[in-house]
Amino acid sequence: MGVMRLGYVHARVTDLDEARSHYGGTLGMKQVHQEQGVAYYKAWDEWDHHSVVLEEGGVGLVKLGYKVARSTDLDDFERRAAAFGCLTERMSRGENVGIGDGVRVVLPSDHVVELYHEAEFLGTETGTLNPAPFPRELVGVGVPRIDHCLITTEDPETLERFFSECLDFRSAERVVEHLDDGALLGSWMSCSNTPHDIAFIKGPNGKLHHFAYALTDWHEIKRAGGLFAMDDVPVDVGPTQHGITRGETIYFFDPSGNRNEVFSGGYMVHDDFPTITWTADQLAAGIFYIGRELNERFTSVLT
Ligand code: CA
Ligand code: FE
Repeated sequence: MGVMRLGYVHARVTDLDEARSHYGGTLGMKQVHQEQGVAYYKAWDEWDHHSVVLEEGGVGLVKLGYKVARSTDLDDFERRAAAFGCLTERMSRGENVGIGDGVRVVLPSDHVVELYHEAEFLGTETGTLNPAPFPRELVGVGVPRIDHCLITTEDPETLERFFSECLDFRSAERVVEHLDDGALLGSWMSCSNTPHDIAFIKGPNGKLHHFAYALTDWHEIKRAGGLFAMDDVPVDVGPTQHGITRGETIYFFDPSGNRNEVFSGGYMVHDDFPTITWTADQLAAGIFYIGRELNERFTSVLT
């Protein structure tokens, strides 16, 4: 069972009020808790306490939380991460509002990941008894849940080996420099049945490329694009389709410049999924299959 999913993204924002209007008003997440300079948000189809934490001061990632299936997984993952050479420490209940105790790991890429098993159950907006398919009072895009995060690392080989050997993720798709020498440029890794729960590409350590929300289908992606136009949200790329994961996508920026994505589609991944390989000469088609071009902003703007 092991790691089940990306549970939360804890990001920095330069201005909390502007961030609130984006994550609350445009994306339609609900604020569930606030403290001085920190706001906690949940999407409508998520049952745990929160999935996005916005902390005022700066940009980029504070940390990522991944939820594990059993409390005993925590000991196992802590031991394996320490043996891999990562700095690990125990975190206790309440260090994160609504989250139980767990293990904090500094990745080979300098990002901080927290593994935890317990989270306060707030329930989805439609409930678990004879639920309606969606809440009728959705705001803006009305995102149902977060899906994945893409980070950058100086050493993709080592980070891929960490997620595979220590946390049992599988690589669904990889980009290599050449087929022969195989230097790794990026990997899209899954711990679930979706094509990616973490992805990383070569770049500076510790940086965020984007985090993404799952939408149902292409029509919702298009509708999100309309709302971004109405709310003057800067769009980076899209709507278009990825070659890698085959997902439909729009990339856009929050008011602090952190890149977000709305994502739909993609295939199912099972234990016997044969890893897909892309070569660097086809990278642009891998990222944006229809346009086959990477804009300068997409490859250089990180937070
Ligand atoms: Ca996913
Ligand atoms: Fe993505």
